[in-house]
Amino acid sequence: MSGVSHASQASISESNRSRILHYLYHEGVSSRAQIAKALGLTPAAITKITARLIEADVIQETGSIEGSKNRRSIGIALDSKRFHVIGVKFARSLVSVGVFDLDGNRVSLEQLPPVKESTIHRTLDSIRSTIEELLAHDDTIMAIGMAVPGPYLRSTGRTAVVSSMQGWRTINLREEFLHAFAVPVFIEQDARAGVLAQYLFDPAGPCDNLAYYLLGEGVGLGVIDGGHVINGAQGTATEIGHVSIDVHGRPCDCGNVGCLERYCSAVAIHEALCSGDLVPAAETMTHAQACAALFREACDGNGRAASMVKAIGEYVGYGCVTIINSFNPERIVIGDIVAQGGDLLLRAAQDVVDERVIPELRSATSITISALPTDAAICGAASVAITQILNHPSTFFDVA
Ligand SMILES: [Zn+2]
Repeated sequence: MSGVSHASQASISESNRSRILHYLYHEGVSSRAQIAKALGLTPAAITKITARLIEADVIQETGSIEGSKNRRSIGIALDSKRFHVIGVKFARSLVSVGVFDLDGNRVSLEQLPPVKESTIHRTLDSIRSTIEELLAHDDTIMAIGMAVPGPYLRSTGRTAVVSSMQGWRTINLREEFLHAFAVPVFIEQDARAGVLAQYLFDPAGPCDNLAYYLLGEGVGLGVIDGGHVINGAQGTATEIGHVSIDVHGRPCDCGNVGCLERYCSAVAIHEALCSGDLVPAAETMTHAQACAALFREACDGNGRAASMVKAIGEYVGYGCVTIINSFNPERIVIGDIVAQGGDLLLRAAQDVVDERVIPELRSATSITISALPTDAAICGAASVAITQILNHPSTFFDVA
């Protein structure tokens, strides 16, 4: 066998291993015959690959199950609770570190002290020591996923613009973390991490044409198109937060004007609240606290607060129109701090979309608020690592 065909054979085997793990991950206990049929692989190939996965203790036989034509067969399963990953979420001013199993169940979560421009290096040290501590006490941790604000330049390892927290730009995350620990580290832009989490954990099941619209301290977007994440040449594709919705609008740190995130990010909302009297002492609050206070007011029937939430929802809707026209997803899932504006915000966004999108496209696109728990963003960081384990099993286990 020549070197080239050997390499390509290895990559086919890895791809088949990965497809089997993905199948077991989403479908649960299955027979070899079921897997062979679903994936279009021969029973012999399935037997060979699953034998190696069982030997390496990645999957297990679970005993007899009901097969096709009422025949009994042996079930096999991937026990997602046996392996853990660490997820680290960087926001502008908040860093959280959590341990999750492969199903996204949270084992532990720690919030580091708020980050200021002047304390970024202290934060990096405490991320390192927190992770070392977790690794020392849990030998089932296989990998670390980090979710960072975009636009994240994948090849150089830096975030290109972080409006209102420029200090992060000076940090090379790849140099700081890529080889810092005993297990592999994977870094991803936060909204792209979010779309991976929605893909893996959405109770509605995986969707191959999916957009995750992150409305946090910044505004971001992660898109899965035909089962593949859209990255772009430098890894900064789908940066909806810096799409201009008003060419004469508010200036943005990225150089553009009227960027969407200048209108409906938690930072923009907080700024607006500080210059008004809707939320008393807003200037003493974090961005998330100020937004939560506004949403509470709206919920309690404060008309001015409700109009403000509705106006924010309309901006969210302008973003949805661009997302639909650019990527034609089947589902848009809205998540993070501003998504807590709930139905009032969602309805305002949907009304804009009803009015401005071609009816055939509108009726084929669902827009919902994420059903994942509120720490979905950190769960997204974990799913960056989980996705790598499912996609490249031989990096983590002796199965090749
Ligand atoms: Zn911008």
